[in-house]
Amino acid sequence: MAERAAFLRAELTRHNHLYYVEAQPEISDREFDRLLRELQDLEAAHPELQTADSPTQRVGGAPLTGFQQVKHAVPMMSLDNTYSAEELREFDGRVCKALGVERVEYVVEPKVDGVSISLRYEHGVLVQAATRGDGRTGDDITANARTIRSIPLRIESATPVLEVRGEVYLGHAAFARLNEERAAAGEPLFANPRNATAGSLKQLDPKVVAARPLAAVFYATGEWTGPEFATQAELLRGLKQLGFPVAALWWECRDIAAVIERAMELQQREGELAYDMDGAVVKVNRLALWRQLGATAKAPRFAMAYKYSREQAQTILRGITLQVGRTGVLTPVAELEPVELAGSTIARATLHNEDEVRRKDIRVGDTVVIEKAGEVIPAVVAVVPDLRPPGTQPFDLFAHAGGRCPSCGQPISRDPAAAAWRCTNDDCPAQVRGRLEHFVARKAMNIDGLGEAILAALASPVTVQEKVDDGLFGQKIEERVLPPVVHDVADLYALTPEDIELRRPNRALDSKAASMKLATKLCAAVAASKNNELWRLIHGLGIPNVGEGLARSLAQELGSLDALLAASAETLAGVRDVGDIVAQSVVDYFANPRNRETVEKLRRAGVRFDRVERAAAGASTDGFFFGKRVVITGTLAKFTRQQAQEELRRRGATVAETVGKTTQILVAGEAAGSKLAKAQKLGITILDEVAFLEKLGETNG
Ligand code: AMP
Ligand code: ZN
Repeated sequence: MAERAAFLRAELTRHNHLYYVEAQPEISDREFDRLLRELQDLEAAHPELQTADSPTQRVGGAPLTGFQQVKHAVPMMSLDNTYSAEELREFDGRVCKALGVERVEYVVEPKVDGVSISLRYEHGVLVQAATRGDGRTGDDITANARTIRSIPLRIESATPVLEVRGEVYLGHAAFARLNEERAAAGEPLFANPRNATAGSLKQLDPKVVAARPLAAVFYATGEWTGPEFATQAELLRGLKQLGFPVAALWWECRDIAAVIERAMELQQREGELAYDMDGAVVKVNRLALWRQLGATAKAPRFAMAYKYSREQAQTILRGITLQVGRTGVLTPVAELEPVELAGSTIARATLHNEDEVRRKDIRVGDTVVIEKAGEVIPAVVAVVPDLRPPGTQPFDLFAHAGGRCPSCGQPISRDPAAAAWRCTNDDCPAQVRGRLEHFVARKAMNIDGLGEAILAALASPVTVQEKVDDGLFGQKIEERVLPPVVHDVADLYALTPEDIELRRPNRALDSKAASMKLATKLCAAVAASKNNELWRLIHGLGIPNVGEGLARSLAQELGSLDALLAASAETLAGVRDVGDIVAQSVVDYFANPRNRETVEKLRRAGVRFDRVERAAAGASTDGFFFGKRVVITGTLAKFTRQQAQEELRRRGATVAETVGKTTQILVAGEAAGSKLAKAQKLGITILDEVAFLEKLGETNG
């Protein structure tokens, strides 16, 4: 029995390393889970067999009540930083001068934008993991760190003490998925991967952490009783040898000129890294020189961070408004003194959520730094404390809102699960509008032409101006307040062209006839959506936790909305990708009488509940494309764009429109343009039509 447990531990550890560090798995996930379950069962039956380094520890133990403090044997220092190559040369000048030499060798590596961590191994076993804290003392997050698959629980070394240091991060793909899930659940989104990582590591319940696909990468040592490394390059190779993931890109450089070149190259190749980086770290290569150079109170003199600039601007925060989403979550939005940023004028930026505003202590009246990095929407990232005017108040969402929803005036309440304030009034106009926007969206019912403005006008009272004949003066303009005509998504199907025409935002610009024509067209688009495929309807309903992918799975496997309605949580949990939380969420949704009422109204309106394009029998779930994010560009000879998308979807791929860091495969036909260039830059797998056909042939949909 003990032997079997030891065997399972060794096997699981080996496969874990193959999967998370080498990215070369030898067995399927299912096989891995089977071995893990066997070990769990063994340990449950024989608790004496359990060890601190058992892979079963990765699923997370009992919740903690708080974090113990850990004093770092060797302090975790900060780094000096610069934004210019010029200052890098000055840094080199200082180093050479202090050492009395002409030239120094360096290592250039990514400055990983994660959360720093220090791991302590005693006789090869992970005994402690700590955050940096103030550099001298940090939080003991051992239970959370154990759940991170790329952190070895045991290493091949009998050395009494080995401390390794690095960064915990959420990969781009994992981050995108996490936020998608949160969006589907109506929970506030994480601002960026680093916030999501920091938030995860601060969780007191390791099971929550285990569910987040955190990863780690290492670049330094702390207390170290093992054989010493001569250089930083050796150290990186040595850590890798011990089983720690290290950066995929780093270079030894003979002098500062080479350093500057490599730092530029690193920025170009940023897309090859799975994590965010905010620059390069330049370190003197020879560790013996580190001791000669020493450190200031804050940072070592042998290293320098060379940061890449993101587009940032400073402006004044004039006010904070609250936006009410379709699930009732209140999101604070910064109303800014307009400012130029990355080529456009920005007057609003997201503040994410109340906790973020408090953490950054952002107050109305502050001068704030806003940032736009890549394709994300502008965000307030910091305040300039020196420029704070007197009399500002810390932000308090409840007080700011006067305890009431800015849209409907009903009381708001704190939702502890989502760490957010919510308006709980189902009839709240802002929520209704949000649900409508979600329903008509391209990835749901795909009803063209129903923009935010017209939906708002349909869902709330509006004042319209009408020319009326007046006996004495010919015509005069009269104002009228029209009541809302749409209370739920089903009401869209009862709209008449007149209802829409009266509420069109730009109707004054068109002739009555032209305006009527447009309204009639909109009505027809709404009616045409009655024939949509079932997954579009399921997605469009906005069931918490059910995004596009799950809506497709549910439609495929259940075949009709009535089957979904009638399904028990157990039945639902049997559907591919559906877990207990989603299953319960579907059951709760349909248990709500108002949602049932909406469904019945949809039925009476003639919306089809059962249009499912069956995937070919036996659609593969392990093919080349399964679970991948794919983008198609250029013209394909043998397929229309639509057909190619269908083929991919049938093989379980998600087809996206734009190339980003989460894209995994680009299918490039003839005359591919900017998407191809971008994919090349990001190092994404590119298939031409021949290769695409080949891969499709290998995996029948
Ligand atoms: P800062 O917090 O801006 O002073 O930067 C110092 C921090 O950068 C260190 O404490 C590390 O957590 C982090 N860091 C990220 N990547 C590296 C790296 N390759 N080498 C050293 N430190 C790094
Ligand atoms: Zn409300």
